[in-house]
Amino acid sequence: MSEFKYIDVPLNHQQIEVLNTFIGPERSAPNLPSLILEALNTSRSFNDAVADGNAPAPPERDIIETYLIEPGQGRAIPLKKGQILRIEQTEGGQCGDFNVFNLHNRHERLHVGRTRIIHGNSPSTGDILWSNAPWERPLMAVLNHTAKTDTLYAGCSSLLYSLAFDSCNHTNCQEILTEAQREYGLKATDVHDSFNLFMYVDADETGATSIVRNKSRKSDYIEFVALMDVLAVPNVCGDDLGKSSNFWLRPLKALVMAPRSEDTEQAMEINETAYKSVLPPRYEAPEDPIIKDEKYIPSYPHLPIRIENTRVELNSTQREKFEQVRNYSLYGDNEGAAMRDILMSWLSERMDW
Ligand SMILES: [Zn+2]
Repeated sequence: MSEFKYIDVPLNHQQIEVLNTFIGPERSAPNLPSLILEALNTSRSFNDAVADGNAPAPPERDIIETYLIEPGQGRAIPLKKGQILRIEQTEGGQCGDFNVFNLHNRHERLHVGRTRIIHGNSPSTGDILWSNAPWERPLMAVLNHTAKTDTLYAGCSSLLYSLAFDSCNHTNCQEILTEAQREYGLKATDVHDSFNLFMYVDADETGATSIVRNKSRKSDYIEFVALMDVLAVPNVCGDDLGKSSNFWLRPLKALVMAPRSEDTEQAMEINETAYKSVLPPRYEAPEDPIIKDEKYIPSYPHLPIRIENTRVELNSTQREKFEQVRNYSLYGDNEGAAMRDILMSWLSERMDW
């Protein structure tokens, strides 16, 4: 066994741009490999672990449509009342944002705050995605899930990256959702607060919350049933600088499926219970149908995302340290991803992200 060890650390151009602010004369390190070693030197091990075993297989249904949503992108997906939408991990560890509209009226959309007040911070099976006033009706419900949802944190936007990292050119959910929804004539002003998919949040002893590493596994999923005709818009969260997606961007899969009879029964039961409390609007509500732009060609900002490997050489002491702190639970044998986590954790601690 040789004394030295090489690890190739994959980083994308957005991450390198932010890391570059620490590189140079009189900065933290002269170059990126030495910055990685500095991060390793100060790193401690962490305990975030994924759930044991594989994600359980989802129910089998007839698939109507499958979408692969690439990093930096989203997808506006129309659903008929009763249809099922499954959002699924392709690799594990990826957070997504989610907007929902009444397909026949753009003004009626998911009210994340109301949903949180009724169902708590992390809506679960049987919980409803409620629309805004004056309607306040069920848009969709969570049907099944093997991973967490979150209603506490607002979606990432250019402001956040500008505030925390002084970085203006960064994939962010606000802009991604804007571009995805444009296919159905929705504007930037139509993007609403995010219902977060595959997001993990912990509270400390004072009750203060923070986003922790993403524990979703490959094939983990969250399923929704449409309780009216809706336009559902999931996207791959643009945050590759924080723990919400373990410092990386990966594709998510979205499947539209026909309901099984037990799905329809479950949906009818949820709907019936909900509508016992739903009142007809007392105020005149604007109506404005959502119409597909047949000429739409997606044009997402901040793409393409370019990935390059940075090679670091570890001596025996650094190698020992790496073995002590690397997170096997999240990254297994993937040394590059484990080292990237060490580096990006170092960065996020400095930037209070
Ligand atoms: Zn985001």
